[in-house]
Amino acid sequence: MRIEYDRDTCIGMFQCVAEWDGFEADEDEGKAILVDGEEREENTVVREIPDDAELDAKFAARACPVDAIAVYDDDERIIP
Ligand code: SF4
Repeated sequence: MRIEYDRDTCIGMFQCVAEWDGFEADEDEGKAILVDGEEREENTVVREIPDDAELDAKFAARACPVDAIAVYDDDERIIP
């Protein structure tokens, strides 16, 4: 599974941080940080989700109030 984080859309509420430690809070910028993410294009950060973190990562994506986090299973977008 893969997670994609849209930094532009993020409004810094940090629900994702509470759900999965793959996200950290950048309080100064008011944005989440996707730990170990790779910037695929400007403000879009992606990474593979470790098998043992899939549940937490999916909770993080569902918790985001502005749908800044997407989860893909192979090429199928499963959240949101
Ligand atoms: S839950 Fe969404 S809006 Fe809030 S910090 Fe995480 S990505 Fe940003």
